[in-house]
Amino acid sequence: MNPSVLWFRRDLRLADHPALAEAAGRGPVVGLFVLDPALLRPAGAARVAFLYRCLRSLDESLGGRLVVRTGDPVEVVPQVAFEADAGTVLVSADFGPYGRRRDHDVAGALRAAGRRLTGIGSPYAVDAGRTVKTDGTPFRVFSPFYRAWGAHGWPPPRPAPEEGGWVKGLRSHGIPDDPPVDAALPQAGEAAALARLEKFVADPIDDYAANRDTPAADATTRLSPYLKYGCIHPRTILARLGKSESHEKLQSELAWREFYADVLWRTPESARRSLQPNMAAMRLDSGPQPDERFTAWTQGRTGFPMVDAGMRQLRGEAWVHNRVRMIVASFLVKDLHIDWTRGARWFMENLVDGDLASNNHNWQWVAGTGTDPAPYFRIFNPVTQGKEHDPDGDYVRRWVPELAGVAGAAVHEPWNLPGGVPGGYPERIVDHATERAEALARYSALKAGH
Ligand SMILES: Cc1cc2nc3c(=O)[nH]c(=O)nc-3n(C[C@H](O)[C@H](O)[C@H](O)COP(=O)(O)OP(=O)(O)OC[C@H]3O[C@@H](n4cnc5c(N)ncnc54)[C@H](O)[C@@H]3O)c2cc1C
Repeated sequence: MNPSVLWFRRDLRLADHPALAEAAGRGPVVGLFVLDPALLRPAGAARVAFLYRCLRSLDESLGGRLVVRTGDPVEVVPQVAFEADAGTVLVSADFGPYGRRRDHDVAGALRAAGRRLTGIGSPYAVDAGRTVKTDGTPFRVFSPFYRAWGAHGWPPPRPAPEEGGWVKGLRSHGIPDDPPVDAALPQAGEAAALARLEKFVADPIDDYAANRDTPAADATTRLSPYLKYGCIHPRTILARLGKSESHEKLQSELAWREFYADVLWRTPESARRSLQPNMAAMRLDSGPQPDERFTAWTQGRTGFPMVDAGMRQLRGEAWVHNRVRMIVASFLVKDLHIDWTRGARWFMENLVDGDLASNNHNWQWVAGTGTDPAPYFRIFNPVTQGKEHDPDGDYVRRWVPELAGVAGAAVHEPWNLPGGVPGGYPERIVDHATERAEALARYSALKAGH
């Protein structure tokens, strides 16, 4: 019997994998992963290392039979299908702009050789484009999307196929060594993802609604890197949720991920450009001084402890707590008046969970340029945000050692300490009240059309 090729992409797991279940049901399977330079380029060392570790874990689950090839999928996938004499290549659908173009081209190349690319399932509970209003038009606002998404529903997760069936003997380039990475990364792979879910469901989940905005607490799932590479499917998480406030809150956070995937699918250009065309005319800063400030922001040396702690967590863990992502993003856009796309690129390069849809649309939400955005005039004050969400200062002290000796919430205003700003910690690069007024003035000018 001819084998099928299962081309793994953002679905590096065996359980709850509809394309794999279909392939396994048909007979022997070649498991393929293509190291595509176009996809690896925007990812920094942390995400590349995490990907390689996920691939090693997947390869182990396949008994060492994962075929890894480097190159352009338009050439590699038909070549592997040819070598395996496979009529069908199965994939989980990809809704991102690059992935759609690539899959279109790969399907064409396979077709020309008398073979087929078949998409079954996707990295989402409900495929992008499926959640629509009763008249068939898309939602632009999250809340009604969320209701319709829940009403659409999804099937329960299915187990991994029985052992066996993975074809041996095809040449593999192997999984490269990890690039050097400074950040402490979570354990990679499907088993680690499932273990993290079990740990979360066993305890912190019931306090999720109350504690999810407290960055010092380990109160969120930390499943985002696993969702990024599909080590776990969101259905597997959703299946564990019930009706409590915390469970519903987590469900709605997972729905934000689906909402943004839907928005990106409908408007692929929104990955790089403001979704609200009128916001594109906002006056932004560029040049040597903004560049210096941008660098200070990337290094966690702005003089605002909550911002610096967040940016240092990004370096230290390649992951940042959601509340702090909002604070640091707001600071870049509204205190430093720097284009959100620049911050989004820095995040994409440095986050282990960097995901085009979630990242760029959350940036647009903060910048007030996206679909259903935070109103532009909602400007986060990094000090009050710090006092509210890190009331004891534990989060700041964890990431900013220069402030480790400052007790309690005073850590959020080092300039007010009796001895002044502790040695080694920078002075503030801007004055928040002044920059807030500046941001609002620019917004008024934009609205007035000049
Ligand atoms: C400026 C900015 C950039 C962001 N960039 C990314 C990114 O590149 N990749 C990414 O996965 N998330 C991104 N987020 C969303 C969110 O911060 C992370 O998903 C979350 O912090 C991951 O931690 P967790 O898994 O513990 O989340 P939990 O609170 O446990 O949530 C569970 C899951 O729900 C999803 N989720 C939660 N919040 C959001 C949200 N606001 N938008 C979309 N999905 C969400 C994630 O898949 C997350 O893993 C960004 C948010 C902001 C404000």
